[in-house]
Amino acid sequence: MATPPRQLQTQLIHAGEPQPRPAGAVVAPIYQSATYEQQGQPGYNQLRYLRLNNSPNHLALHAKLAAISGAGAALVTASGMAAITTTLLSLVGAGDHLLAQDCLYGGTLNFLSEEAAALGIEVDFIKGNDPASWARHLRPTTRLIYVETMTNPLLEVPELEAVVGFARRRNLVSIIDNTFASPVNFRPLALGFDLEIHSATKYLNGHSDIVAGCVMGEAVQLAQITRRLNHLGGTLDPHACFLLHRGLKTLALRMRQHDENALALARFLEDRPEVARVNYPGLESHAQHQRARRLFAGCGGVLSFEMREGTAAADRLIAGLELPVAAPSLGGVETLITRPATTSHSGLTPQQRAALGINEGLVRVAVGIEAAQDLCADFAQAFDQL
Ligand code: PLP
Repeated sequence: MATPPRQLQTQLIHAGEPQPRPAGAVVAPIYQSATYEQQGQPGYNQLRYLRLNNSPNHLALHAKLAAISGAGAALVTASGMAAITTTLLSLVGAGDHLLAQDCLYGGTLNFLSEEAAALGIEVDFIKGNDPASWARHLRPTTRLIYVETMTNPLLEVPELEAVVGFARRRNLVSIIDNTFASPVNFRPLALGFDLEIHSATKYLNGHSDIVAGCVMGEAVQLAQITRRLNHLGGTLDPHACFLLHRGLKTLALRMRQHDENALALARFLEDRPEVARVNYPGLESHAQHQRARRLFAGCGGVLSFEMREGTAAADRLIAGLELPVAAPSLGGVETLITRPATTSHSGLTPQQRAALGINEGLVRVAVGIEAAQDLCADFAQAFDQL
């Protein structure tokens, strides 16, 4: 009798584990070796050398990530930005054009609006929720379309099904940064995206102790991206590989808690008189709530909200909280809180932020896996002090 396909929770623990287990070790060791004995490999990219992303730690991670995302292959990188830039630079070059969603992670946005032009790559920014406008920006040189599952920090969910259809009809490569959902909450390759990218710094690792990235997709495309990474050099260190491998094993459990906590805190904030608006796709009040329900198993741990009294009140609230740490990033076990105007989106001008709908007083919470009742109680005491 054929074995049924394994569930994601099982794949997170067992997929990609080295067989036979080295020295019988239940946990795969860290291979802290820059180079490996030559075994008659035919060419440079087949040599076993750390920068060529083929140490046993890398291979185990690649197999696990491919399994959990339903991909033919995967690649880990030294950061999320290394995954994003290496992927883009392996698909487009001077004279090529791409379409990218307008509200992207700040680093990606800066890369596309500053570095890409210097490399001769042309970019048009599109509204993720206005598919009728996308075709207007097409050129004969358009190669790809790039979006994020949920935008940071407003948590808008673009028309993801339309992105896939548009890319297929126009023969474009479709790329999604799925960091905010993780493969537990959304599986973009199953929907028809060509490439799925993550800042593995966030949920995949889950403990705020490394930076890492990854990209998943068809084996042929991954071979091309790997070759580019081999040249650009954004390789993940074996110790960071080990930590990411360990973090991945608890991803499903952690995501369930992030989803539940963020929804509980979002509902709590929505009821507070000091709060003008809460952005979280799990809320019925969110403009794309129905799409999120259709496509996602959960909406992740990030939410944002606006205080009625603006920036000063937001800063006083943040200062009065005891549990959330005022720090950028997301996806770790601990709750983090920021004002995006001073962190993730500080690279933009106030005008650029306003054009994207990011008010100076907007607060973003990356909800961790503490007890939701303790988080809500902490926010309640901070509101009461205002
Ligand atoms: N993509 C998203 C959605 C992010 O939030 C981030 C970082 O915050 C990145 C990419 C970049 O990842 P890294 O910091 O690992 O380079």
